[in-house]
Amino acid sequence: LVRFDRVTKRFGAHTVLDSLDMTVYAGKHVTLIGPSGSGKTTILRLLMTLLKPEEGKIKVGDAYLTHEEKNGRLVPASEKHCREVRKNIGMVFQQFNLFPNMKVLRNITEAPVHVLGLSKDAAEERARGLLDLVGLTQHIDKYPSQLSGGQQQRVAIARALAMRPQVLLLDEVTSALDPELVAGVLDVLRDIAHTTDITMLCVTHEMNFARDISDCVMMFDQGRVIEFGTPEKIFSEPENDRTREFLSAVL
Ligand code: ATP
Repeated sequence: LVRFDRVTKRFGAHTVLDSLDMTVYAGKHVTLIGPSGSGKTTILRLLMTLLKPEEGKIKVGDAYLTHEEKNGRLVPASEKHCREVRKNIGMVFQQFNLFPNMKVLRNITEAPVHVLGLSKDAAEERARGLLDLVGLTQHIDKYPSQLSGGQQQRVAIARALAMRPQVLLLDEVTSALDPELVAGVLDVLRDIAHTTDITMLCVTHEMNFARDISDCVMMFDQGRVIEFGTPEKIFSEPENDRTREFLSAVL
């Protein structure tokens, strides 16, 4: 469903992703692990089109995010094309980024109404279902500032899912939370991983969570995938020395 084809991303002289090839199959849950600065977040930011690669192609579903077809040739994607392809991608950030001036319900209905053109009633019905899923029905009428960080993050998850994306990107979604709030958010994500067919691409430092939800774990080092496989393989029998070193530092 998601494919990186020889993608290079540089910041000045610093090459963060180096001709990266990566494939995520539909319905799979893939976790990216690796040392700080290895390029994991950059991958998610490229998918959100918050960044553009210097080289290479990125495909989501049947369409390229980076390119579009014109007269039978692939040319760099226009803004409009990018926006269309990006509708298939939802993202939850480390800092929840909710709209502070909108109540919970409206935070969730805003994009389905304005981007997808859903009626207000249909968007609200969808939002209520999702609030039930993330266990926040009784907070529907509150502002984000009236919620705990964990609750805000669960609203952010509901908001991303309200767009019915094919891919959900999760960028260290628990790292800004107080420790006692982490479990509630991870439980919701586990539930989503186990009960829906959404494709997930997840950057996390929560190795137990990665082990629970992942079909595949990819170990990054210096902008390259140095090892990938099932969580059992990566966590129990890593083959690469760098993977072993990294895991012994974080486990
Ligand atoms: P972490 O686990 O710390 O979030 P990461 O693997 O997600 O690390 P990235 O955030 O992808 O790493 O960053 C990779 C490298 O790119 C880092 O060295 C970072 O300093 C650099 N970088 C990221 N964004 C920018 C930017 N906008 N301008 C310059 N350099 C950047």
